[in-house]
Amino acid sequence: MAQIKNIGLFTSGGDAPGMNAAIRAVIRTALFHDVEVTGIRRGYEGMINGDFFPMGRRSVSNIMQRGGTILKTARSAQFRRPEGRQAAYEQIKKFNVDALIAIGGDGTFRGANAFNEEFGIPVIGLPGTIDNDLAGTDFTIGYDTAINTVINAVDKIRDTAESHDRLFIVEVMGRDSGMIAWRTGMATGAEGIIIPDANIGVDKLFDRLENGRKNKTSRIVIVAEGEGEESGAFEIGRQVKEKFPHLDTRVSILGHIQRGGSPTCMDRVLACRLGVAAVEALLEGYKGDMAGIINNQVVFTPFEQAIKHNSEINPNLLRIVEMLSL
Ligand code: ATP
Repeated sequence: MAQIKNIGLFTSGGDAPGMNAAIRAVIRTALFHDVEVTGIRRGYEGMINGDFFPMGRRSVSNIMQRGGTILKTARSAQFRRPEGRQAAYEQIKKFNVDALIAIGGDGTFRGANAFNEEFGIPVIGLPGTIDNDLAGTDFTIGYDTAINTVINAVDKIRDTAESHDRLFIVEVMGRDSGMIAWRTGMATGAEGIIIPDANIGVDKLFDRLENGRKNKTSRIVIVAEGEGEESGAFEIGRQVKEKFPHLDTRVSILGHIQRGGSPTCMDRVLACRLGVAAVEALLEGYKGDMAGIINNQVVFTPFEQAIKHNSEINPNLLRIVEMLSL
């Protein structure tokens, strides 16, 4: 067992439901193994600013069911620069922290990797992001809650679409990843899915509207927010209105509701298992890896590999979506 006495714990990047359950699991596991935990508020920004505080068993009572993160989160431009990381290292030394657990997404792990390489501080990452875009885990903490929030919202939109015979273009989160879009598209019986960054564009949708079943009473198209030329539900809505003026087309952006809310059972269990795994991995000497679950087994993946986006969408899944909504 490595000599680790004090673990620094922080959340970073976009918040995700289940982060609190992961925080609780880390604290309780560390205390079980007689290791102290120092909370760091607001991710790398708080690390640089010395926003550290001791966390005990009671500090995580009654947080499992809460969305967001009690440790707060932030994006830090300073930490991207070597001087920022040096300042963070000075604080780590000052507070006698000898290892870190980072809960966040790919950017957080890029930072963690740089920090580990430059200063030799062991860091274990927990995948906390609604995007489900990390290699090295079947699911990220927060994804299951987010997709359930989306399907609840889309079911409601379907009610009004059906009543008015409308077509709704619904934009969901996932800037570089269509993971939220394809799964929720299948689960809501969407007539179309558009994932600009995976080159699943509007052509298919146009073809469907031109040649598909004409007597549909409502249509839902799920669009992943993207950065490509065709991206953005409003732009797609504009194109659909121009080409199909007879359709009553509306646009709905689900936005930040996808980040909030009480985590689902799946996210809580994932967070508990990974929180325990992260602490025990540090004690066993792991130092630059993300903990994940693949095929129901806990696995550790070096940060450089974990950050390679796991955003490929199996064409057969898209075929299923299409076939079932004909
Ligand atoms: P989400 O997937 O929810 O957006 P994320 O962890 O990817 O979460 P980012 O904002 O990309 O969120 O990254 C979080 C923070 O990690 C950044 O604000 C920055 O401080 C740090 N970071 C990102 N990339 C690097 C890098 N290449 N080097 C050093 N630090 C980085």
